[in-house]
Parts: sequence; C-alpha cells; structure tokens
Amino acid sequence: MRYSMSNQLSFLLIVCSTMFPFQAEQMLQASDLSVGIAAKDITPPVGYRMSGYFHERLSTGVLNPLYAKAIVLQQGDTRAAIILCDMIGISPDVSGRTRQQASATTGIPAANILIAATHSHTGPLYFGALRNHFHNLAVAEHGHDPHETTDYPSELVARLIQVVVEAQAAMQPVQIAAGKTHQNGLSFNRRFHMKDGSVRFNPGVLNPDIVRPAGPIDPDVGILLVRDASGDRTLAGLINFALHLDTIGGTLYAADYPFHMEQYLRQSLGQDFMLLFGTGTCGDINHIDVACKDRLTSEVIGSKLGETVQNAIPQLCPVTQPSLAARSTIVRVPLQQFSPQQIEQARQDIFKVGSSQMPFLQQVEAYKILAIQWRGGTTIPLEVQVFRLSDDVAIVGLPGEVFVELGLAIKEVSPFETTLIIELCNDAPGYIPTRKAFAEGSYETVNSRITSGGGEQLVEAAARLLKELKAADE
Ligand SMILES: [Zn+2]
Repeated sequence: MRYSMSNQLSFLLIVCSTMFPFQAEQMLQASDLSVGIAAKDITPPVGYRMSGYFHERLSTGVLNPLYAKAIVLQQGDTRAAIILCDMIGISPDVSGRTRQQASATTGIPAANILIAATHSHTGPLYFGALRNHFHNLAVAEHGHDPHETTDYPSELVARLIQVVVEAQAAMQPVQIAAGKTHQNGLSFNRRFHMKDGSVRFNPGVLNPDIVRPAGPIDPDVGILLVRDASGDRTLAGLINFALHLDTIGGTLYAADYPFHMEQYLRQSLGQDFMLLFGTGTCGDINHIDVACKDRLTSEVIGSKLGETVQNAIPQLCPVTQPSLAARSTIVRVPLQQFSPQQIEQARQDIFKVGSSQMPFLQQVEAYKILAIQWRGGTTIPLEVQVFRLSDDVAIVGLPGEVFVELGLAIKEVSPFETTLIIELCNDAPGYIPTRKAFAEGSYETVNSRITSGGGEQLVEAAARLLKELKAADE
C-alpha cells in the first residue's frame, strides 16, 4: 500500500494573527459569543431507497445512524445556524420549508440559516428525477410505493427544525478557536488527461492511458473548535475538507468517513464531542489513487483526518474578538436547454437507467434532462451565503457539487485568513464545474444542470460578500 509514513505526517500550516495559540491552560476572556449545538437522528426506515448511484438500491440496515447536527451562534442581536446532514443532498423543498419554519420558530433570519448535506452516498434517495422515476414505477406496479412507507421529506423537515430549536436552547458562552492544517495522501483529483487527448473521470487504477490529472486538490483542513466558557470541555468541531463522501457503498445506511473521524476525535476530546463535517468543494475530488491498487477505506480516511485535526488543535488561533455577521445573495445561473425531441427521448431513456442497455453517460444525460424539467424555468437561483466569525474567520456556503478549483479561487481572494467553504448548501443542483471542465467534458459536465460560467458566477458572488463583510463594521 502506498499509504506511507511520509504522507501520514501532515504538516501544520496555521497562521495566528494573535500570538496566542489555543491551549487548554490558557483562559480566554469571555466574549459575548454564545453557541449551542444539537444532533438529531435522521435515519430513514430500512427498506427506503438509497441515493448515490444510477440504479435502484434499497437499504437493508444501518451501519451507523445518519444525523442532522446543528450549531447556532449568537452575538448581540445577530444569530445564525448551520446544519449538517448525513445525506447526499438537500432538496430545495426541504431547505425552503425548514428555513422558513425554523426562522418562524426561533427568530433566526432564514437567510442566516445554512443547511448542508455531507454528500454521504449511503443515505436516502428522497427527491429528484431518479427518485420520481423509481417512485412512479412502484406506484404503477403496486398502486402505492412499498419503499416509501413514510413521508420522509416532511419528517426530515420536522427534525431539522427540532435540531435548530434544541441547539438554540443549548446556547452557552463559549471559547472558539480556528485555523487550518493540511492533509495529503487522502484526496485525489479524479479527472485525467488521457493519451487520446480526452479528459476522463475515474479512468481506473493503473490505467496505462493516463497522462496526468486534469486538476488540483485542496489539502486544507479548516477547523473551528468550540469549547465551553471554562475551556475544559470541547463541545464541537466544525471541520471542512474537500473529499467526496463515497467510500463505503453497499446497502447499509452510513455517514461515511466523518463517522470514523468523530470516533477518533472522541478518544481524546471525550464521548460528547460532536463533529460537524462541512464537505469542501470536492465535485472533482475522490479518494481513489489511480497509481495504487489498494483502496483507502472509510475507516483509514476518517482516522487519519481525525489525527490530523487532533495534531492541529494546540496551534489553533483563539477567536478573541468575535464579530458575527451573515450575508447571502442569490445568483441566477442559466440552465442548460433541450429541445422537445431531446426531452421526449430522455423520458424514454430513463427506463434504461441502471441497466446495461445504454452507455453510462447517455443514462446520465437522460437523467439530467429530466432533472432540469423537474425544476422548470430557464435559470436556477443559486444562493451564496457567507458568515463572518471574526476579522480572521469566515464560512462560505455554496449549493451543488462544486469543483475544487472554484473553492480554491474563493480562498485565493478571501481576505479572511481562515475561510471554510462548504458545498451542497440548501440545494443539490448537480455538479458545478469550471468553464475549463465544460470545455473538456466527461461525467461531471454531463451531470450538470447549469451552463458554463455558472460556477465562476458563484465565485464572484462569494468573493464580493467576503470583501463586504471584511470591510463592514456591524
Ligand atoms: Zn457526488
């Protein structure tokens, strides 16, 4: 296995603008920042369809439960909530209903509520063109859908509201520290230039036609650690890393590698420690090293990341002067357009999805065309959220499976030393590739609803909000 000692040694790159590292013995001055955290089990019934691949997959059990985890922050009159869910994506219906009702219940402005999916491929399939297709087939055959014994989306909304309410009720004065470290050896760009001049995603390990990767990775591990006011107890960590959560497969519900990361960190931080995993921009990043036959397991990835975070904790910078603020904006991005003939063809081709009767990318194309019809309209509203914690720390939320280059571009221009960028927030409109990738083609651009340039529009919006918040005194 190529997972050698040298790349197990991640190196720390933490720059503290204050000169005081976050040590347990160091008592910080109490700030007026309060934080509450809570978790709620959102595991669907066994037998419900699972999401992640292009065939019907029914769950047969639970490897580890799926959770929605919430962190609510308050400083003065400003409040914000971030909710992370162990699932592939958040439907616009679920996020819309949750944000509206959670806001009405708690008083937190809907615009200040971020709901993200971790992108676990071992969670429920509860919305979208593929769910609708399988659901319609089941209803046609049985008169009802035997795999949807509950209204899961509505139950999910209820639990997401509950988790925000509980997090708010658990609000307490805290110490916060933030920073970033690096993790190498776990994440790989999955698009490659091939000898025939094409760009291919996942070309297979040891494929002799691979020339070189078509893009970078982002080795940053962004860390936000929350301790109680005394500094004795670590309550939670919001961790941000760009690596697709598709390391398990199978038919058991599972939260993927963040589960193992949380287990690892609990050994040193205590059994009550809660890991809130914010998936970074990893649309083109996965855990497959094409130069190596051995596949990294979920457990190895989670433990390694846990160790890396643990090693970085003593170097984190305390947030001594919090200045909580939030901004959001809607970017209207053009949707891809298809002729009535193409749409009709897709309606027929969807019956071949998951079979061997049609090449894979044609199946994806049919699914994508129906997914665009499901949404309707000629543009898609994509929301960009930015939360400022202090003059040095900000969190960006983007919808969709965002290419790593776009996240790196935001970090490049962000005026905040630590910028966490979480993808799949509030909506799951497929992949958000770069202009370069649209020109190159392959799976992610076929499985994308937006037109070329939409990703760069999100980068511009995020950069603008970050700069506004850096300059603003609110
Ligand atoms: Zn994915």
